[in-house]
Amino acid sequence: MSTAYDAIVVGARCAGAPTAMLLARKGYRVLLVDRAAFPSDTLSTHMIHPPGVAALARWGLLDRLIATGCPPVRTYSFDFGPFTLTGSPPPYDGTGVGYGPRRRILDALLVAAAAEAGAEVRERFTVDEVLIEDGTVTGVRGHDHGGPPVTEHGRVVIGADGRSSRVARAVGAPEYRTKPPLQWGYYSYWSGLPVSGFETYARPGAGWGTIPTHDGLTVVVAGRPRAEAHAYRADVEGTFLATLDLAPEFAERLRAAHREERFLGGSVPNFFRRPYGPGWALVGDAGHTKDPITAQGISDAFHDAELCSGALDDVFTGRRPFGEALSGYAAARDARVAEMYEFTTGLATLAPPPDDTARLLAAASGEAEAMNRFAGVVAGTVPPHAFFTPAPASDTSALAPA
Ligand SMILES: Cc1cc2nc3c(=O)[nH]c(=O)nc-3n(C[C@H](O)[C@H](O)[C@H](O)COP(=O)(O)OP(=O)(O)OC[C@H]3O[C@@H](n4cnc5c(N)ncnc54)[C@H](O)[C@@H]3O)c2cc1C
Repeated sequence: MSTAYDAIVVGARCAGAPTAMLLARKGYRVLLVDRAAFPSDTLSTHMIHPPGVAALARWGLLDRLIATGCPPVRTYSFDFGPFTLTGSPPPYDGTGVGYGPRRRILDALLVAAAAEAGAEVRERFTVDEVLIEDGTVTGVRGHDHGGPPVTEHGRVVIGADGRSSRVARAVGAPEYRTKPPLQWGYYSYWSGLPVSGFETYARPGAGWGTIPTHDGLTVVVAGRPRAEAHAYRADVEGTFLATLDLAPEFAERLRAAHREERFLGGSVPNFFRRPYGPGWALVGDAGHTKDPITAQGISDAFHDAELCSGALDDVFTGRRPFGEALSGYAAARDARVAEMYEFTTGLATLAPPPDDTARLLAAASGEAEAMNRFAGVVAGTVPPHAFFTPAPASDTSALAPA
């Protein structure tokens, strides 16, 4: 038996669940499927910067997240060796605080919110095939865990199925601004590791950071250049600890703590995909993925959910034709993330910054406003150009205005 939905959303984590929730809240018939069952973890650390937290607040979900006992992150620090910049990001949409919730908690909360909004949620449902008729996507074929093939039809199929998106592959979504994987990282969880918040460390050829999370644990993630992946994989713990030894105070703090979980990690490519075509759209990593060094993916996924669901609302109500509304979504997404993409992929090389950048960062050291603004660059609340554009010669301040 087949059912017609307004939207079928494939993938139910940070991109898919909010997209389904927002469409269902507008009264549309939404099917949200994922081959995973929730709560479950996925390969990802989980810093949500203020722009992502602001989205949770707009959706009425921030109080639920706070109620899970996740500690707030108010302080961002960037240890470059000779100096450290410590600050708090300027607020975004009234929110200047970050959170680092475990994905099994965050994603389950988002799936529950989608179901509460009226979306039909099917866990353990794998999409095997995207149905295309005369060049237009019309639905999906998949199966419940161990079950027979099931066909579902929808006015639009939304791929929220991550960076290896089956939906993107099926429709041949063109890729652009592609860059290879740049670093190789591993992370794990420690108890008894006090941190000030989002602490990061940059050394030539190495970078690492901390995120306080649920249950008094701190996630620590450490990256090395992609070219060193083979050696890192061969000795994960040894390479991880040797990396941290580049900042002896931190290494000592971590060695006094207790690792509670195994190491997980890998590498991600960097790309944009055209996020729409006849009968289909992409949100989250399926449409745009970048190195996690600046921890933007969850916040980006939330913004895609808002932009894409808004565009589809325009289509379903007849305010705008599909191509016009969805090309608006694509343009808005690209404009929002373009600068951060270049900033992130630059950082992810783990190469020392160019001299002028290094001088600018050093000049910010000890200057509270400048340090807050650099925290804002990484958090996504201050556009990189507003920090890095050199001030005119007549201007004696170190930083250009936002
Ligand atoms: C090591 C690492 C660390 C990271 N750290 C951070 C961080 O600190 N902060 C941050 O903001 N971002 C971080 N990211 C990025 C972040 O994980 C992603 O941007 C985010 O998960 C994207 O969400 P998504 O919903 O688009 O995709 P995903 O989270 O990948 O979810 C896709 C879902 O689709 C489902 N799916 C896939 N195929 C099918 C199918 N055929 N049928 C049914 N279901 C399917 C999967 O089961 C999965 O649940 C990190 C990434 C990595 C790899």
